[in-house]
Formats: sequence, C-alpha cells, structure tokens
Amino acid sequence: MKKPPRFPLSRFGEKLSARSGILELMDDLGEAMTRRPDMIMMGGGNPAHIPPVQEIWRARFRELLGADAAGEFDRMLGNYDPPQGNPAFLHALADFLNATCGWNLSSRNIAITSGGQAAFFFLFNALAGAFADGRSRRVLLPLVPEYIGYANQGIGGEAFRARRPLIEEIDAHTFKYHVDFANLAVDDDTAAICVSRPTNPSGNVLTDAEIARLAALAEARGIPLIIDNAYGAPFPGAIFGEATPLWNENIILTLSLSKLGLPGTRTGIVVAHEEIIAAIAAMTAIAGLSNNNIGQAIVRPMLANGELRRVSNDLIRPFYREKSERTQEMIREAMGAAGIPYRFHRSEGAFFIWLSFPGLPVPTRELYERLKARNVLIVPGEYFFFGLEGADAEDWPHQRECIRMTYSMPEDAVRRGIAIIADEVRALYGA
Ligand code: PLP
Repeated sequence: MKKPPRFPLSRFGEKLSARSGILELMDDLGEAMTRRPDMIMMGGGNPAHIPPVQEIWRARFRELLGADAAGEFDRMLGNYDPPQGNPAFLHALADFLNATCGWNLSSRNIAITSGGQAAFFFLFNALAGAFADGRSRRVLLPLVPEYIGYANQGIGGEAFRARRPLIEEIDAHTFKYHVDFANLAVDDDTAAICVSRPTNPSGNVLTDAEIARLAALAEARGIPLIIDNAYGAPFPGAIFGEATPLWNENIILTLSLSKLGLPGTRTGIVVAHEEIIAAIAAMTAIAGLSNNNIGQAIVRPMLANGELRRVSNDLIRPFYREKSERTQEMIREAMGAAGIPYRFHRSEGAFFIWLSFPGLPVPTRELYERLKARNVLIVPGEYFFFGLEGADAEDWPHQRECIRMTYSMPEDAVRRGIAIIADEVRALYGA
C-alpha cells in the first residue's frame, strides 16, 4: 500500500508530485549523465556536445568576462531582468525573426520563460482547464505520438484530446505520420490546437500544407494554434528538409535555446499576440520573479551578426542530419541481420529515431525494463500516446510497439546500444 505523505498534499501538489513519464525520463537522464557513465543513454533529449559549437559558447563566455563587457557581465549576474525577459534580447530577437522570416514582430510579441517546458506549463494551464463559467476546455493534439513533456502538465483535470494519425507506408521499413483531417472535428470545448514541429518523438515535420490547414482551422474557430519549434528553423536548425516557419497573431510559437547546446541556461521563448505575452510575463513574476538571463546574454549579439544562423544551418543541421543517417544505417544492419520486422518513422528533424516493432509480444514498457537491466536507456512509446478517447482509444497495438531512441551521443555508444536493442528484441520475437 502507498505510504501516506507526511503532510497532506493539495490536488495541485498530488498532481505535480506524481510519477510521470517525464519524471522517469529526466531521472534516468540525470542519473546516466552524472553517476552512471556505464549507461548507454538513448533515452533523454540531451543535445549533443558538438565541439565547434561548444567552442563558440566558450568564446562568448570569455567575451562576457572580458574587460569590454565588464558592465554587461556584472548586470547579468547581479540584476533581475523584467519578467518578460531581457529588453535588449527581446528587441534583438524581434529584429532577427522579422529579418529571417519576414514577420512584423515587436518586442511586445516575445516573452522569455524558464525553458520551453515552463512555457507549456503556463500556456496549457492558462488556455485550458476550468473556466469561471463552470465549463472546462482542452487542448487538441491533432496527431499523437506527441511530446511526453506535455502529458502531465494540466493541473485542472484532463487537459488534452488527441487523434490518431494517418500512417503513410513509404517503404518496407519506413513510414510517416500525417494529420487525419477527416477525423479532426474541433469540439466546442477546444482551447487550442498544439503540435511540435519537428515532432518529438517521431522526427516528423508536418508539411507547410498541414500547418497552413491547422492554422486556418484554429483561426476559423477563434482559438490559437500552438507550434512548438524546440528543434526547428530558424534556430536551432535540427530540421533536415525545407519547412517554412509560420507565425501570425493567431499562432503561439515557442522556441528554445536548449537544442543549440544551452539546456543549462533554461531559456524558452514564446512568440505570440501581446495579450498572451503579457499573461506569460505575469505568470513568470508569480512563479519565478524573472528568468535566467545567461542564455540571453550569450546569444544576443549572435542574432544581429548572422552567427546564430551560421551555427544553426552550417554546424547543427549537418551534424544531426549525418548522425541520423548513420544511425539509420546501423539500425538496418543490426535489425536486418537479426531478422527483426522493424520499421521507423522517416527522420525529418529533432534527434530521435522512432522505431516500431509490429507484433512485439510484450509492451515496450517491458522492453524498456529489460534494456535498462542491460545498461541501455530508451523511452517506451506508450508515454507519447496520451489524450486519445472514443474510437481513437480503442485497441491500437502501435501504441505499445514503438520506442524512442536518441542518437545525439557518440557513434560508438549508439552502435553498442543498437546491438543490445536488436539482441533483446530478437529474443522477444523468438520467445
Ligand atoms: N518541446 C519539445 C518538443 C521538446 O522536445 C522539449 C525538450 O526536449 C521541450 C519542448 C522543452 O525543452 P526546454 O524546456 O529545454 O526548452
């Protein structure tokens, strides 16, 4: 029986202190990164340490410490920023996005948060949940699997409603998810539509046509479309094909400095209508006074001088694209040789391979435990299918047959990890 807490917890306390997929994932990640160097960490979303990019961050730090920037360094460490973010950074970012994407933003359209994760906590709970008129509203995920980090964020009951995708079979071993617009009725209690693009976990990039259609649908219903651009363009650039970034006053776009290699600075960015930005700033003041400003100080001059574009397009994008291609080859070799009926989602961005094992005799939660016992961490796919209901929730084996595998670590570790996964999966099919 579960031990009662020493002090009773409120609904909020119970909800946020419960076991969740994201807690398990971050615990695994933290443990592997700090205390278990023997673990092959293919679970979490830690960005790769890319040497030429790391050198740029070190050089920026030296610049900040140098005599020319003495005032800036002291202000960075010694002052609270306004809750909306550092004003100089907000201006520089608005100019950068206008110049790069052809938008018409002012600094009043941008707020900083303590990482993209915190931005979603604020956005989901501000837009969905219980309303003053007694009704409640939910966020529509037009396609699951979707980012595990959203799943437990709603504090006022069920926060999501999700739909199954259409699955395009590209070849015997490759598939791609599409939004099933025929099954996308937007109910009256829908608060917003939300997608990650590139999608964590699948590496899917919704097409420009799909995004345009979702934007039109949201606008027609008077609700926002939230686009989570943690991996995409114009930065950090972990996106392999062409996909046009989209923003207008009906779209809430989020970005992050994490996948540039700066997750430790905890810098999330929300680009939205001024009213949303004012609400985010107000929530930051209550929940955390202001944000960490170190990431903003590091990146700010790189917005105007083209360096951030160069880092994203010339260093980060090719790095992950090549790693993705190498990982796919390794999977084909290892799984092919083992005679496993594997399939994976076409890798279009982010840094995960979303592997599916049709007819796997055990759920991937069990596969996760077996692999963990062999010092390999992956994320079981079940966590990414939340919010399904009605006919969509009826038995769908695909939910229990997929795993997410990160390929941001050194190639040798990825190769060893894949060999162990292939060995374990082969044994399960054979059993
Ligand atoms: N959104 C997606 C799709 C992610 O994968 C992540 C992190 O992995 C985040 C948001 C949040 O990242 P952060 O809080 O580091 O900005």
